[in-house]
Amino acid sequence: MFNRRDFLNKTILASLAAGVGISSCESKPKQDAAKNNAATTNQSSGEKPEATVIATWKHPDATQKALEVIQNQGRALDGIEAGVRMVEADPLDQSVGYGGLPDRDGIVTLDACVMDEKGNAGCVTFLQHIMHPVSVARKVMEDTPHVMLSGEGALQFALSKGFEKENLLTQAAEERWKEWLKEGTYKPVGGHEQHDTIGMLAIDGNGNLSGACSTSGMAFKMHGRVGDSPIIGAGLYVDNEVGAATATGLGEFVMKTLGAFLIVELMRQGKSPEAACREAALRIAEKYGKANEDMQVGYIALNKKGEYGTYSLHPGFNYSISRKASHEVLDSPYLSASAG
Ligand code: ASP
Repeated sequence: MFNRRDFLNKTILASLAAGVGISSCESKPKQDAAKNNAATTNQSSGEKPEATVIATWKHPDATQKALEVIQNQGRALDGIEAGVRMVEADPLDQSVGYGGLPDRDGIVTLDACVMDEKGNAGCVTFLQHIMHPVSVARKVMEDTPHVMLSGEGALQFALSKGFEKENLLTQAAEERWKEWLKEGTYKPVGGHEQHDTIGMLAIDGNGNLSGACSTSGMAFKMHGRVGDSPIIGAGLYVDNEVGAATATGLGEFVMKTLGAFLIVELMRQGKSPEAACREAALRIAEKYGKANEDMQVGYIALNKKGEYGTYSLHPGFNYSISRKASHEVLDSPYLSASAG
């Protein structure tokens, strides 16, 4: 399993080693950008793109599951919900759902959202005791006239829909929290917090796009803190005419730049998914990078043609991609402190 401590440490070390800000320069991507942007459609013949699922981080089982559901049932949103639920139920994933690391008070609080091909959206924030916030978010979207429910209201809504109340704090997560408490210095934008999340995007055989994002948020966050992940336009945005984008990393950066919406709008203006993700990462680096060199953000995007791209502030961000029979985990290109 991907270890977020390693990821964050590598990020910090890379920044320290470089000794310069990330805002002024950019490295060559680790891998060939053209590979990321490989189109699978035959645009001239007007064929629909093949079903494709992409997710933040190392979750090939989840993207595979999502792809299988899309291939069997047809709709991107159904596949995405199934894939994200796998990660939410995994006690070994300490960033999402059951087993997620708690806030500084030892309480697991979850955020999630979904957006479909019709532009419908649903979110839950600061939700406790429910293992599958992605499915509650979908219920908010489908069964209420609202977009977002929060806290106790979201919990009551979930219970009314038949979701079960559960203890989400695993022994392993509690031990990590107790370990953190020994130092317990809380710096909202410092390097002590660890974070990642699952954002998943898909296009189905009808050429329809959907997305979802689910997280337990920044580890050891202030009680009540909500990040970008459940915020439509920040942690996720889908426009079925154009494309979809989702984020992971320090939510405060993503919210302040409305990252996912920005990426979709850049794709609308003609940028490739990778170029759009890169520009959104650069926006953060230019505005906030100098003072926050150890903080990571990663973006993934998928356009209407089935092309995808990713970009992150620092090395260490990877993503999972499933299409046809292939399920891969690849490193993202990134901005870097090391280029001169
Ligand atoms: N973006 C999430 C948040 O800020 C955390 C993460 O991606 O790890 O809550």
